[in-house]
Amino acid sequence: MKSLLALDQGTTSSRAIVYDERLHPVASAQKEFTQHFPRPGWVEHDAAEIWQSVLETSRQALEKTGPAAIAAIGITNQRETIVLWDRKTGEPVAPAIVWQDRRTSEYMSALREGGKEPFIQQKTGLLLDPYFSASKLHWLLRQIPNAIARAANGELAAGTIDSWLIFKLTGGREHVTDVTNACRTMLMNIHTGDWDDDLLALFAIPRAVLPRIAPTSGHFGDTEPALFGRSLPICSAVGDQQSALFGQLCTTPGLVKCTYGTGCFMLMFTGSDPMASANRLLSTVAWKIGDAPIQYALEGSVFVGGAAIQWLRDGLKIIRTAPEVNDLAAEVPDSGGVFLVPAFTGLGAPYWDSTARGALLGITRGTTAAHIARATLEGIAWQVTDLLAAMEKDSGRRLTTLRVDGGASASNLLMQMQSDSLGVKVERPKNLETTALGAAMMAGLGAGVWKHPDELSHIREVDHLFRPTSTKKDRSTKLKQWRKAIKRAKNWVED
Ligand code: ADP
Repeated sequence: MKSLLALDQGTTSSRAIVYDERLHPVASAQKEFTQHFPRPGWVEHDAAEIWQSVLETSRQALEKTGPAAIAAIGITNQRETIVLWDRKTGEPVAPAIVWQDRRTSEYMSALREGGKEPFIQQKTGLLLDPYFSASKLHWLLRQIPNAIARAANGELAAGTIDSWLIFKLTGGREHVTDVTNACRTMLMNIHTGDWDDDLLALFAIPRAVLPRIAPTSGHFGDTEPALFGRSLPICSAVGDQQSALFGQLCTTPGLVKCTYGTGCFMLMFTGSDPMASANRLLSTVAWKIGDAPIQYALEGSVFVGGAAIQWLRDGLKIIRTAPEVNDLAAEVPDSGGVFLVPAFTGLGAPYWDSTARGALLGITRGTTAAHIARATLEGIAWQVTDLLAAMEKDSGRRLTTLRVDGGASASNLLMQMQSDSLGVKVERPKNLETTALGAAMMAGLGAGVWKHPDELSHIREVDHLFRPTSTKKDRSTKLKQWRKAIKRAKNWVED
């Protein structure tokens, strides 16, 4: 009765993993779902298809253990993506607008020009960008006939993916979200953990359309018995990056993890202090476990990480599979002075320049595909180096070890480059699936399988420790060149 079912609802696929009480995965299932790109810059998901993919993968994963073995369900999910649905029918009234969607750029620029950024940053820890949910919900409510009135009188419900899944899992009984998801909407005050009236007024969003905000770990409700053959308690909901932070056991202030997936996401746990950033990072809720106070993190994200490797594969076609990048890059001892800035969709933290575009610099007659492959991996590592520099400035802490995870952290070459460009140790755990793991851990705590997070300290096993081999002089020379390359990539397209 002590297994845990983690539902990892990502941007491109949904996964369900059953963990035994030692937190070893014993069954899993995965399903991709459709990405919709109706116009340039628009990205949509069908929330009904997402729900079906979660239901199917959950049922498949449960085939092996049976529902009776499950003590609790934990949910982790793509953040910021917003769903609007009809409470009575339980059906979405519009496509979900995905975090990557840029349709509200102009609206956000107008707010910035109106001087709203300091006010928003102070309340939410976020910067004005279409990335967050508020402007997307504002857009949806104005697009659908009668939506504002129906939202205000309680006919419509809105929420991030966690909230949508809990509504469906509980047969429509619960409309609830957790603080880690709520803090990414730009409507929650991170100091109080509640929806903020000034922000609701600014984005013209009726409070009645929003879910109740609950702790990350606790009791969210019970699943409809018909779904899995018996009712199961839902005991955690947590945004994917915060879940990975917890899965990496970054539970002491100053510990940092970086996830290398499509993008790269670095979070530093800062404890009960919602540290304000002076270097254009985000202050975000790390989690709230039961009645304990809200814990915070600093976050920096780069939009293109592993996706740059996919570009080598699908765009340039110089590799056939992502792992092949390592063999190609290893053909040369260095990048021969070539730098790649993978700003394909603009630059995220700490630059936040949506008009930047990718740049390949330092090419000579001697440049080969191998040099470009190497420069691509280095470009990922340099972007992460910029994030860490901003984090160290904000926190006043010097990092000694970076904990890594995500698909591209499997690359030894990339991890060694990362250690060399940072001049710090890089620690890779055996289990790279820290996102689902974090949700399972939170669910176990919520269900009382464990009483305190300290009981989980044994679960993290290190696979490899990468140590820096670069000199300080090396690092500063290359960093200078990288910053020059960044300058060339910035302000490229007209806004
Ligand atoms: P996401 O969760 O964002 O879909 P994943 O964590 O699954 O991403 O990581 C996938 C990314 O990792 C891809 O962009 C791919 O290019 C990269 N990747 C996967 N395996 C390797 C490898 N062995 N070496 C380098 N990059 C890899």
